[in-house]
Amino acid sequence: MRTLHTVAELRSALAQPRREGRRVGLVPTMGAFHDGHRSLMRRARDECGLVVVSLFVNPAQFNEQSDLDTYPRDERRDAMIAAEENVDLLFAPTAAEMYPQGFATTVHVGGVASGLEGTQRGPGHFDGVATIVTKLFTIVAPDVAYFGQKDAQQVSVVRQLVRDLNLPLEIVACPTVRESDGLAMSSRNALLDPSERQRAVALYGALNAAQELVSGGERSATTILAAAAAALAQASLDPDYLALVDPSTFAAVSSVDGPTLALVAARVGSVRLIDNQLLV
Ligand code: AMP
Repeated sequence: MRTLHTVAELRSALAQPRREGRRVGLVPTMGAFHDGHRSLMRRARDECGLVVVSLFVNPAQFNEQSDLDTYPRDERRDAMIAAEENVDLLFAPTAAEMYPQGFATTVHVGGVASGLEGTQRGPGHFDGVATIVTKLFTIVAPDVAYFGQKDAQQVSVVRQLVRDLNLPLEIVACPTVRESDGLAMSSRNALLDPSERQRAVALYGALNAAQELVSGGERSATTILAAAAAALAQASLDPDYLALVDPSTFAAVSSVDGPTLALVAARVGSVRLIDNQLLV
């Protein structure tokens, strides 16, 4: 595996594999790798002739300076993990490389980007995601890019972006990888103290409570959301949002009559976590 820090180095490393007609897969990440990241790398390795992983803690998508400052970073460990997963190229640019002086362009996605994370974290969050993802797609020109269903709204935003701008690549969403107690893996989990770590599993508990009611035939969103909120309250968690939405539009539903996405965001201590589950 080669680690590259500049756009020029990456482009030149991609030229020969592309001439050979190898299928290029991109896994965009912010590092602090865990098994969720590994699952995306493995899927890319299975399906592509050349695997590029980007590692960039993108300041533009952070709405809180303290979140950006405390975000876990360990490039050496990440490089070892990516090498273990047989990644070909690790692209780890500096902020100045991605946003050189005078940078003045933003990609704005409407529609699916407007509610939930878009509301809680502000419009700058998904603008930041859309802008960096567009840059990565342009720099790498992958045939396929891999994202985690853990960030369900992000996947929808990226799909909307690709559709609207006719970007010539395929988007693959990979299932959420969980700890043994059900907590969705996240780089931010490393910031939880032991008692917060125990309470954090209530996000998964809330989603399961919703699924249980739906499995029992309940249709009312109000009733289902009340059960999910009760599961959070048991762990003294007050959600930023708890929502049931149509997975294709992210519009709230009042009745669960088809595939419905349950989403939750909550702060556990100072660490903000999100999770979601498709209710079937
Ligand atoms: P991040 O480094 O947190 O920006 O995540 C990089 C990619 O890994 C994103 O597409 C995430 O959705 C995905 N990801 C993060 N956590 C998980 C997880 N627990 N399971 C599957 N994918 C994940």
